[in-house]
Amino acid sequence: MDERSIAEIVRRVIQEVQTVEANASGHVATCAGGAVPGGRDGVFTQIEDAIQAAYVAYQQYTTYSMDDRKRFIAAIRETSRKLNQQWAELAVQDTGMGRVDHKIAKNALAIELTPGTEELTTTCVTGANGLMMQEYTPFGVIGSITPCTNPTAMVINHSICMLSAGNAVVFAPHPKAIQCTLRCMQDINRALVAAGAPANLLTSVSEPTMESAQAIMAHPKVNVLVATGGPGLVKAALTSPKRVVVAGPGNPPVIVDDTADLSNAAKSIYDGSSFDNNMPCICEKECFVLSSVYDAFLAEIQRCGAYLLNPSQTQTLVQATIVNNQVNRDYVGQSAAVLGRVAGVTVPSTCDLLIAETDKNHPFVDHEMLMPILPIVRVNTFEEAMQAAKEAEHGFRHTAIIHSQRLDRITQFAKLMQTNIFVANGPCGTALGNGGEGWTAFTIAGQSGEGPCTPKSFSRLRRFSIKGALRII
Ligand code: NAD
Repeated sequence: MDERSIAEIVRRVIQEVQTVEANASGHVATCAGGAVPGGRDGVFTQIEDAIQAAYVAYQQYTTYSMDDRKRFIAAIRETSRKLNQQWAELAVQDTGMGRVDHKIAKNALAIELTPGTEELTTTCVTGANGLMMQEYTPFGVIGSITPCTNPTAMVINHSICMLSAGNAVVFAPHPKAIQCTLRCMQDINRALVAAGAPANLLTSVSEPTMESAQAIMAHPKVNVLVATGGPGLVKAALTSPKRVVVAGPGNPPVIVDDTADLSNAAKSIYDGSSFDNNMPCICEKECFVLSSVYDAFLAEIQRCGAYLLNPSQTQTLVQATIVNNQVNRDYVGQSAAVLGRVAGVTVPSTCDLLIAETDKNHPFVDHEMLMPILPIVRVNTFEEAMQAAKEAEHGFRHTAIIHSQRLDRITQFAKLMQTNIFVANGPCGTALGNGGEGWTAFTIAGQSGEGPCTPKSFSRLRRFSIKGALRII
């Protein structure tokens, strides 16, 4: 009997045991490595059990073929399509932030454009000296710490990427996004089991806290951490001795120069900056416009629906949304209508974005607001625009956007910014497949260098070599 057949038999036995046990108890995840009490579709009471269950699931998963993984990824996409709307509604209800229609769009992007197993191609080189082969292999258990700004799209995206690469995942949801994150994860787990995958490939705890996230970060059975969030998380993640994929904050500037197609620039910036109430890390967050086209641009973006706050309304909004030099989280992800009321105006129901004329040192320029309020700054030269954009981005090297017809300026700005995401002449989402070409990513790992993450980012590259054989031509 060859190795493949033995692995297949082991896999079937494990699956049968698991099914019998699960049917008997209703909530016991069992496998060859031992029983893990308390799990319900991957959700455990204790973090230790969640990690142990994922570890056991990973070991089982190693006995499955690449074709099996392909089938499981198809099951994730299929179930996510069916439940997209429910998850989007729950995400808004749970977090009190963002918009259902845009959450649906984000989930759809994750479902349709996250790369799967097809990305993990084997490289083989042969020659007079023999053969060398490289393959993408799993790390094991990944601890994924997720933000409240993208809860369900992130679970879909990470499940597809990380499971394509053969890993199991322990999620640490944001305490403000527990229900939607867990529901999405449990629904996917059920679809995976129905497709024949081991139970508990995705796990978490019923009451996630900062402490449970820290327990995941420190646990010896968690091989890799993926930390997606703000500055506090980045700081904590970078102290870990483990391999860490760190995807931190952005504060994307956008430049509009005097050669830009102003109508396209205004529409793109309006759409990009207002998307999901500006919560995605890639959204346009401050805008620098050359003086000669400033007035025309301002008129154009108002024609798109933006509401221009006067200086006193702007100041009122600053005082409410920035307290002790920190963004007031009560207003993160709120709509233009809500923020308008805070500023003392009732904006039309068609308005998705507030704009304010500011200078380049204004707090709305400096802070990553994560709200649909876009400061617009008049600059005299392209060089001044670039310098101001560079300062506003704070060296995160996350995202930058430009509207210009001049390739030399586009190139110059891209070189200066050195960001992981750079978009010319479209909304920010263009770079993640939202109206642009290519595939998507929901974790943009600037701090650790992986950039827009795909299954390869969650894989270990291994090499096999043989001397003097297996060249067959
Ligand atoms: P957040 O930092 O408040 O929380 C993110 C996650 O980290 C949560 O699960 C939270 O519980 C956990 N966390 C925070 N501090 C921690 C600590 N010290 N130890 C352990 N866990 C900790 O961020 P958020 O408000 O949920 O999300 C918005 C932020 O995330 C923004 O800054 C946004 O730019 C960033 N973000 C970045 C990317 C990217 O790909 N680079 C993607 C989405 C969001």
